[in-house]
Amino acid sequence: GYVADEEYDYLYKVVLIGDSRVGKTNLLARFAKNEFSLHSKSTIGVEFATRVIHFDGKTLKCQIWDTAGQDRYRAITSAYYRGCVGALVVYDITQKETFQNLDRWLNELHDHMDHDNPVVVMLIGNKADLAYLRVIPKDEAKAFAQKENAFYMETSALDTLNVETAFRKLVTQVYITKD
Ligand code: GDP
Repeated sequence: GYVADEEYDYLYKVVLIGDSRVGKTNLLARFAKNEFSLHSKSTIGVEFATRVIHFDGKTLKCQIWDTAGQDRYRAITSAYYRGCVGALVVYDITQKETFQNLDRWLNELHDHMDHDNPVVVMLIGNKADLAYLRVIPKDEAKAFAQKENAFYMETSALDTLNVETAFRKLVTQVYITKD
């Protein structure tokens, strides 16, 4: 049934990180509003969107933060990470560099993390619809995720593939871990 915006059992802050152009904003738009855009945003600054997920009879409200352009300058502030309980760390399966840079993003996340409250990490290989342009094999990404103690999933914000599943998996895992 209808749940008013302010009625929820838990509020979770989730951050989206990863190189510019990997599809973070479109993953968020797809999840929060079921929208997709071929044209990139021009906003500079942090933005977030919220959506509730129902799980285990509970209403989990997710507040998902998007860097909205800051990643281009690698100037993400601590405020962005503060209080986050989950992270979607995104690369583009067609761009090797975005996969190679995952180390830097994970290091940054770990540097900002409150170590008494570990963050659940979901590694996302986005643009799975462009399989013919793939340069990162699934096995390689899966092995990397395992090494990093992270979940792994390939998504397409364009095709809607796994977007819901990825966010849901991350948020329910946060719930399970924190409960
Ligand atoms: P961000 O900089 O990481 O937030 O990336 P954007 O969401 O702005 O996306 C960058 C570009 O990739 C845009 O032109 C999007 O239309 C495109 N894009 C995003 N997700 C996908 C996807 O799943 N498949 C394809 N083919 N293009 C995508």
